[in-house]
Amino acid sequence: MSPRKEMISGGDPVDDNRAEASNPFALPSDIASEVAIRPRSLDEFIGQGQIKAHLEVVIKAAQGRGQSVDHLLFAGPPGLGKTSLAQIVANEMGAGFRVTSGPTLVRGGDLAAILNSLNEGDVLFIDEIHRMTKAAGEVLYPAMEDFKLDILVGEGPTARSIRIDLPRFTLIGATTRTGMLTGPLRDRFGFVTRLDYYDPEELATIVRRSAAILDVEIAQGASLEIARRARGTPRLANRLLRRVRDYAEVHADGRVTEDLAKVALEFFGADSMGLDKLDRAILEVMCVTYRGNPVGITTLAATVGEEAETIEDVYEPFLIQAGLIARTRRGRVAGPLAFEHLGIQPPPLYDDLFRE
Ligand code: ADP
Repeated sequence: MSPRKEMISGGDPVDDNRAEASNPFALPSDIASEVAIRPRSLDEFIGQGQIKAHLEVVIKAAQGRGQSVDHLLFAGPPGLGKTSLAQIVANEMGAGFRVTSGPTLVRGGDLAAILNSLNEGDVLFIDEIHRMTKAAGEVLYPAMEDFKLDILVGEGPTARSIRIDLPRFTLIGATTRTGMLTGPLRDRFGFVTRLDYYDPEELATIVRRSAAILDVEIAQGASLEIARRARGTPRLANRLLRRVRDYAEVHADGRVTEDLAKVALEFFGADSMGLDKLDRAILEVMCVTYRGNPVGITTLAATVGEEAETIEDVYEPFLIQAGLIARTRRGRVAGPLAFEHLGIQPPPLYDDLFRE
């Protein structure tokens, strides 16, 4: 999400126009349809069964007590549904939904103004919460714990602090990096969970649901083909669907058959394993430049021209899950599948390295 992003209030659609490293296929015109296909209830949210089951209990219990839901933290790579889940919690609670993001919360006053404008029961969603400053964190802690806001009035020797009551609200934080949250912040969440990549069947279901909303006729095999190339990520699956639809409209009668989907995905350069340019650059450095030898994250980042943090949060988890790379004691190592995928012969004695 861009640092320029402003808060949007009460049930407004969430702005999806964010710089999204794992989605090379985004166009601005996709934003309206992105809003239309965002799931609005737990029933519409596909996959992540255990998280849904937990949230259902948390929500029902809060409703039973007539209270707001405890503060929640959703972790995991971009595009897996953290924002959608936050909005769903607000919807299920019949609560207002307010959105802001860590990078915009610089001064304590930035956050104080937002907190002060909340209504009873509102859900406040802070995306990239790990990027908020310490000053903002200091305002957030008492607000989360006691629903109080300390405000400094006046300046110099006459300055004094007054404490005001806040309405009971639910904070939902999203982060790609749980490791970067301070202990005091993490401890203030009543429920912390991590979203996993989706399997192809789940993604195919998401593609079919989105196709129905967008009025696209799609064959079963086509939805699975898109799903396989979507990097385990619903946001990317939906974007690939939109590009395939474009192709079907221009080169055929608009219907997405399996054959058409394959041609369209090749046309847009969607990798058969769903990898994007940077995924492939990482693999090339590991397989070609380093010939399968272990590489440190800092070296890897400098070589592909990306921040180490982004590689660790956004790229590496998927490459590891797909069995393409592994973390060893001596660094990151490309697996046999990485060589196979790039069509490169692994060096001799390479198997022993990967197994180490
Ligand atoms: P994050 O906040 O983790 O970056 P989002 O919640 O913005 O991810 O999800 C990106 C898009 O992917 C949403 O607009 C929605 O259309 C789709 N999506 C994500 N998770 C699901 C899901 N479980 N079921 C259906 N669609 C989903």
